[in-house]
Amino acid sequence: MKTIVIAKRLVATTIMLTLASCETVQTTQGGVVGVDREQRMAVAPQVIEEAAREQYTTLMAQERQKGTLNRNSAQVQRVRAIANRLIPQTAGFRPDALRWAWETNVLTSAEVNAWCMPGGKMAVYTGLIEKLHVTDDELAAVMGHEIAHALREHARERASEQAVAGSVISVGAAILGVGDLGQKGAEFAYMSLLGLPNSRRHETEADRVGIELAARAGYDPRAAITLWQKMAQVSGGETLKFLSTHPSHSERLSDLTDYAQRVMPLYQQAKKSR
Ligand SMILES: [Zn+2]
Repeated sequence: MKTIVIAKRLVATTIMLTLASCETVQTTQGGVVGVDREQRMAVAPQVIEEAAREQYTTLMAQERQKGTLNRNSAQVQRVRAIANRLIPQTAGFRPDALRWAWETNVLTSAEVNAWCMPGGKMAVYTGLIEKLHVTDDELAAVMGHEIAHALREHARERASEQAVAGSVISVGAAILGVGDLGQKGAEFAYMSLLGLPNSRRHETEADRVGIELAARAGYDPRAAITLWQKMAQVSGGETLKFLSTHPSHSERLSDLTDYAQRVMPLYQQAKKSR
């Protein structure tokens, strides 16, 4: 599976982390959705940023070589237009994100996948766009979700948990592990090490923050519900495994329904002012 190959290639970014003193941080402001959990970090942000930069550079070089980077200009334009509406909304959760070096790419691949690395490097796979026949609202939902993982620094939190547990950690796996359907390899490796609860928590947080980002950008927040319904449909048997490490499908849908309602006024307001 592709993910595992990537993870292996990233051996270079596996490092023994000296355990910095643990600090409790608030990576984001709570927003209307009220995601205000304090996070314990034992790894410096620079470590993750550097690993992400290296990983991104490597991945992009490989994609370019394969001829799979930003091949369809109509798709690239579409995805970037959505990113350009979502990114300004990140300031509501953390003002420093406006200074990130954001980049958005489309990768040609059958994989139903998307990710946003720490620091704002994003990719959407053509498999996701084409197999799910996504609407713009649904694309905004998935991108909002991925951006939310980055804003909340979930990768750094995972790396920190591993460091605290005394493991030799792979920062690369921590970064990739935050992704979704296409990244089960890293996800499972992480799971077996640390167990389920935090991963579920991260997914729920990304869902809630993501839905607010989309609504504020003028995208219908209810699209997150249809997006996850479609995800479950296309991934069939794979989903069963995937869902075992994630909030159950019905739990997720009911949470999304609840939070979509909460952010509806933001969506209506954004639509009016567009
Ligand atoms: Zn996620």
